Amino acid sequence: MELEPLKDGHGRLIGDLRVSVTDRCNFRCQYCMPAEGLPWLERDEILTFEEIARLVGLFAAMGVHDVRLTGGEPLVRRDFPRLAAMLAQIPGVEDLSVTTNGYLLERHAEALVRAGIDRFNVSVDSLQRDRFFELTRRDALPQVLRGLEMLAQYPEAHPIKINAVAIRDFTEEEAIPFAEFARRTPYEVRFIEFMPLDADHAWTADQVLTGAEIRAAIDAVYPLEPESREPHATARVYRFADGNGKIGFINPVSEPFCGDCNRVRLTADGRLRTCLFSLNETDLRTPIRDGADEAELERIIRAAVWRKELKHHVGEPGFIQPARSMSAIGG
Ligand code: SAM
Ligand code: SF4
Repeated sequence: MELEPLKDGHGRLIGDLRVSVTDRCNFRCQYCMPAEGLPWLERDEILTFEEIARLVGLFAAMGVHDVRLTGGEPLVRRDFPRLAAMLAQIPGVEDLSVTTNGYLLERHAEALVRAGIDRFNVSVDSLQRDRFFELTRRDALPQVLRGLEMLAQYPEAHPIKINAVAIRDFTEEEAIPFAEFARRTPYEVRFIEFMPLDADHAWTADQVLTGAEIRAAIDAVYPLEPESREPHATARVYRFADGNGKIGFINPVSEPFCGDCNRVRLTADGRLRTCLFSLNETDLRTPIRDGADEAELERIIRAAVWRKELKHHVGEPGFIQPARSMSAIGG
């Protein structure tokens, strides 16, 4: 089945779908979740594997070629490798990736690689155990690093990316250790600017440590050279001038990349979101469970995508933080 490409009302072609497979998580990162967690969705509120595969198939028929599985923590969803295998077989899905906190990677890396996951992003915010604990509220750095080592054994999983959220008065101390980590390991480290998607609604603009600031601090010690930017890439990637590794910066707050955005998101409860910062979402679960056919679902998806936001308004007067926080959207 091949359908018309999926396009928004500003002429952007949609090629990338982020699928949240669960809102639950085994971590409580300060910039994402409250210490006590959130009220989790009930089991029957969450899309089944078959429902997810059906929607991914429809998006793929409309030209979506990149699918990223996220959450919450995707690896806590029971039988997650089975879902990965189902999605890997869908015609048109060229790049199937996972974003994970890495805690369960030691156990599941092999099954996920075998299932057909092409790329992994592992979130690590500090390379010091006590500071990792402070930020994630879990004393889990050694376990995450063991998971990374396990994953690194599979050549087909490379390049492995490490994502670190950059927060002022915290991440400055991490910049050089992460640069050295990127230089001595096969991992590409990327810093992501802190966004107003925290469940505590405590974000303020002055807490954003910008990519430019971190880059300058690293460049002063280990000179950097820019790599050319690939279309739709969120990260600005630099190589170390002496050829040892790469480092990237995802700067949605200081240098928004909305004009080039080709992404939409599906939440664990089957809502389509056309921007991380959307204030509206479109329910796909109800029509699916009411028996909508492919043509009807296609019509609903196209209508929602047509209204995709031109840009986000973070940092502008009147910005409204969405009710859902990052773990409930699917980052
Ligand atoms: N639990 C998995 C993980 O942490 O990798 C996947 C879901 S998590 C919501 C996806 C990504 O969003 C992670 O890299 C996390 O660091 C990032 N994230 C969460 N809250 C954020 C925020 N307020 N600003 C920027 N990035 C955030
Ligand atoms: Fe969980 Fe990921 Fe949010 Fe941390 S960032 S609380 S690991 S969903």
